[in-house]
Amino acid sequence: MSEIIVGIDLGTTNSLIGAMEAGFPILLADAAGERLVPSVVHFPKSGVPVVGRAALRMRAVEPESTVYSVKRFMGRRIGEEADDVAYKLAGKPGEPVRISIREREFAPEEIAALILAALKAEAERVLEQPISRAVITVPAYFNDAQRNATKKAGELAGLTVERIVNEPTAAALAYGLDRLKDRSKIAVYDFGGGTFDISILELNQGVFQVLATNGNTRLGGDDIDAAIVAHLAELAGVEPGPRLREVAIAAKHALSFAAETRVELPFLEDGRSFSHTLTRVELETLARPIVERTRQHCLRAFADARLAASELDDVILVGGQTRMPLIREFVRAIFSREPNVSQNPDEAVALGATIQAGILSGAVQNVVLLDVTPLSLGIETFGGLMNVIIPRNSTIPTKRGELFTNAVSGQRSMLIRVLQGEREMAKDNWELGKYALEFEPAPKNQARVGVQFAIDANGILHVLARDTKTGAEHVLAMTSAVDVSDEAVEKMLEDSLEHAFEDMNDRVFTEASLKANELLPAVTLALAQVGSALPEADRDTITRCAADVQAALAAGGAPGLKKAVAALDAATQHLAAILVEQAMRGASK
Ligand code: ADP
Ligand code: MG
Repeated sequence: MSEIIVGIDLGTTNSLIGAMEAGFPILLADAAGERLVPSVVHFPKSGVPVVGRAALRMRAVEPESTVYSVKRFMGRRIGEEADDVAYKLAGKPGEPVRISIREREFAPEEIAALILAALKAEAERVLEQPISRAVITVPAYFNDAQRNATKKAGELAGLTVERIVNEPTAAALAYGLDRLKDRSKIAVYDFGGGTFDISILELNQGVFQVLATNGNTRLGGDDIDAAIVAHLAELAGVEPGPRLREVAIAAKHALSFAAETRVELPFLEDGRSFSHTLTRVELETLARPIVERTRQHCLRAFADARLAASELDDVILVGGQTRMPLIREFVRAIFSREPNVSQNPDEAVALGATIQAGILSGAVQNVVLLDVTPLSLGIETFGGLMNVIIPRNSTIPTKRGELFTNAVSGQRSMLIRVLQGEREMAKDNWELGKYALEFEPAPKNQARVGVQFAIDANGILHVLARDTKTGAEHVLAMTSAVDVSDEAVEKMLEDSLEHAFEDMNDRVFTEASLKANELLPAVTLALAQVGSALPEADRDTITRCAADVQAALAAGGAPGLKKAVAALDAATQHLAAILVEQAMRGASK
């Protein structure tokens, strides 16, 4: 029987697996008693790939055939992610990343699958039963393609992925579940090896809800390592290399507990050796600018959640790097409180994944997980405007729909462009997919097309378009080839603020020009039909107003056009009334 569902933290640097045992979430240890499995795969010249600690040791020896940080490439395309790794990437720009090892090519999810398979095998050994179901965590900023790649990795490893859970949400579960009062708000500050996430969650009578998430998938302990390596390389007068990196990481870890540590590099290339006492103060000087980069993300999360630090009940620390005293001090200052460190920071996510697995299998009750979507989703409408269907920071799962109509009489199809982003104009947002939906030709504004957006519990978007007349439905495939990295999300938010004024101007102008283009031919037609019923002065006013609208359209300014359209609208009130009157007389004849 395989009723057990395991919880897995598939980390950039380290991965862990856990299972519920006798009602408790337990992280499983390997034969050496280690729970953290380095997310590293080494491909030896012959024989099967090696995963974990043994592979990590090979990283310095055979860097070209040892894959680390593969999570960075999950669901990514060449060019989207810096390729500053020691192994080779293959593929043309814009194509999915492939990893090239010893004349073989792998998809990132195939490598991740090897890590998952190793975790699964370890769990099967410890639990003495076959495992086939799992909950896997991902950073809150993972997009569709990245979540799907994670799911695929699980399947390749022989696991049915029952749920993809955001890491900060999982961590909150691990930290808080039994301890929080009925209604509380917590911040999760997760500084791992490769990613930084800040989330603000609310726990309300057993329901977790993510109020806001923010972060950076290219910011982590790796950056601190690189700074130490550069510093030591300069002091020792050597080129940075894998050996120096190992020494730097060991020193960094030691300095979380000691004020100074000895760095030894015997047998340098030219027979010299190097030795240096690295102090915590020295390390903090190197690390401070990196840690400081998390500030803006925290502030933005506060703004999105509409909260002040003082309104939080707790701040929890997640990610191995938060063991660093400098980070604790930084968090203490930003959140004006002592951070909660009651869990091992590098184990909290896996514990939460395990609890979520327990919820799904029925072993844990009374908790439901809700997450939010980081950017608005919508479709393009008339005039190239973005029509938001699901606003950013909406709680997921969610389902929302809207009815759209044809702008032109006899139109046979409608192009549905699915967009993601915060800008007013469609062209400034990212296109996730598009589809030309055919429908029965109908007079203007008569066709009805329903578009439904659903984001499932895994954060994956499903779009459905329906011709409400015939009931014909079409599921839109999302190509999701857009770069939705943290920087991209951040840039989108910044741009939307920076361009808020112009964007609003563009929207007002577009809306006014749509109206003008409708009004002008109608006015010309009405003047020809019933104009003679108006005093000449009124006719002149209308002609002048129409010319003003033409001029404003050509000039391009939103306020001017809006004013001209309003003036034309006002001037034609009487004309419109005569038209209606005549039409009614005609109808009653
Ligand atoms: P990820 O979520 O990216 O897999 P982890 O949460 O396992 O990462 O954190 C890994 C990072 O934590 C690495 O950069 C590692 O060097 C760092 N780390 C682990 N232990 C310590 C420590 N004692 N002091 C400082 N940093 C640490
Ligand atoms: Mg992590």
